Amino acid sequence: METALNDKTNGEYDIRSWFEDIAENAGFVQTQTLRRILELNFGVEYLKKWLGDINIQEMEASALESLYTSLVPLASHADLQPYIQRIADGDTAPILTQQPITTLSLSSGTTEGRQKYVPFTGHSSQTTLQIFRLAAAYRSRIYPTRAGGRILEFIYSSKQFKTNGGLTAGTATTHYFASEEFKIKQEKTKSFTCSPQEVISSGDYKQSTYCHLLLGLFFCDQVEFITSTFAYSIVQAFRAFEEHWQEICNDIKQGTLSSKITIPKMRKAVLQIISPNPCLASQIEENCKELEELDWVGLIRKLWPSAKYVYSIMTGSMQPYLTKLRHYAGDLPLVSADYGSTESWIGVNVDPSSPPEKVTFAVIPTFSYFEFIPLYRQKQNCSSAIDDYIEDEPVPLSQVKVGQEYEIVLTTFTGLYRYRLGDVVEVAGFHKGTPKLNFVCRRKLILTVNIDKNTEKDLQLVVERGSQLLTNKARAELVDFTSHADVLNQPGHYIIYWEIKGEVEERVLTECCREMDASFVDHGYVVSRRTNSIGPLELCIVERGTFKKILDHFIGNGAAFSQFKTPRCTSNQVLLRILNVCTIKRFHSTAYG
Ligand code: AMP
Repeated sequence: METALNDKTNGEYDIRSWFEDIAENAGFVQTQTLRRILELNFGVEYLKKWLGDINIQEMEASALESLYTSLVPLASHADLQPYIQRIADGDTAPILTQQPITTLSLSSGTTEGRQKYVPFTGHSSQTTLQIFRLAAAYRSRIYPTRAGGRILEFIYSSKQFKTNGGLTAGTATTHYFASEEFKIKQEKTKSFTCSPQEVISSGDYKQSTYCHLLLGLFFCDQVEFITSTFAYSIVQAFRAFEEHWQEICNDIKQGTLSSKITIPKMRKAVLQIISPNPCLASQIEENCKELEELDWVGLIRKLWPSAKYVYSIMTGSMQPYLTKLRHYAGDLPLVSADYGSTESWIGVNVDPSSPPEKVTFAVIPTFSYFEFIPLYRQKQNCSSAIDDYIEDEPVPLSQVKVGQEYEIVLTTFTGLYRYRLGDVVEVAGFHKGTPKLNFVCRRKLILTVNIDKNTEKDLQLVVERGSQLLTNKARAELVDFTSHADVLNQPGHYIIYWEIKGEVEERVLTECCREMDASFVDHGYVVSRRTNSIGPLELCIVERGTFKKILDHFIGNGAAFSQFKTPRCTSNQVLLRILNVCTIKRFHSTAYG
């Protein structure tokens, strides 16, 4: 997912100055963006329902903005679902957009537990290409890369399929990899990507990962940086490398390809690229033996000596993989990639040197029309409403305030109108006139038994506290985690599932369990625990490989490896069955407060 490595071209400079200009006038640009979206889709069924036949052509920009936000209601995916379903079933009338929609994307299936259709158009691919070029232009100022170098990209497309109405469906990344825009990018940088298209689109993430690693090492002296969409894929790839490095070295030595790779097209494409290189193979082998002794600390730095940085989404639900990513990267900078969703790209990282924990995203005001619902955390959680925030009326981009948390609302060129994305962000500052957002979490509550309310972020902080004991008191690491609110048994209680690598004494795990129980600061939880209306927290240790089984379950159901995010809380019966069957130890936090 990258643009030309030759960064000093006018193109790169131009795209940055283009962005600086629109950022300066972001408020105005937003009103123009809204006008363009409404003019392009004037008269479509959905808008007609709310706006009637009002003539928007003559209307002054700010009047149009207030008219639109006062007449068109906020919508969830469920509100738009019947319209999208008709499109999926082949209705070609102008329902959401004037231009017929021929492609649908699957969004956030892994975070929400079910996949949702979202329209995908040429605009989606164009903005993807645009944000990649823009982000690359900012990165190249801090971390210049060598012209003629290569990129090791852990990217994967999944299968595209047809809906009942004959539309092409698949994940947004898959559509992008199949788009003209991606071809343009590939054509421009053809000689720079380690893996050919056959590896990216093999449809089998394990085989693709093996080939990405093999080709990445074959070209190791030329690799300028290492990237994936979400950080999870890089961590998974290097975990696989720990297992398969000898076989990979053997393939490099002999110019062969492991029998594990069974997909003929991919075999052919890879074998056409590699040739026997015993000298390189023995050098890698030597390095790997040393690295294995050091538990693979600094693997990336050592094996890819020309790499300047690692680039991927490292925020939000990817943050728990940062420790492992740092472990592999050694002292190589980690650059956090941009913020977007299947529905729309949102913001670009204009400060690539800021650490992933502090990264912000400058909103791109031409991509969609953005609104922001102010959110206030409830201090006293004494109602049983399933919501953790009080919200205010949405405000336009020009009225957001630094330090305030918001839920993002999108009006897109692809036919989503005042669509609640469900992400919580905080305005950290401004880049010229456009807000810089901190990603906080998905809005949806994930853990609740009665009056307690905890989000993904709350759980993440608690797990961080607990897992610190793992690293401090035992030389073990947390591989992955999820949770479940058990309300079937009385009193209800939280269960946290951990997969760990390394040996840990039971005494330490009991302590971890207690520490996590005590680390939930939500008032409802604290009160309920004191009165025992929520029972002791349960920590379940699952056997090695359990989260891989979960990943395989999702992939089997059509999720894309490139977009996979481990669900941080689940009520999904299949997942719970996997987790419970694989649980090897259970701990309860008996002492509380
Ligand atoms: P998807 O629907 O699979 O495209 O996933 C989109 C979701 O991934 C967004 O709504 C966010 O919750 C999350 N996401 C995307 N980019 C980032 C980022 N840079 N930081 C944190 N979370 C992100």
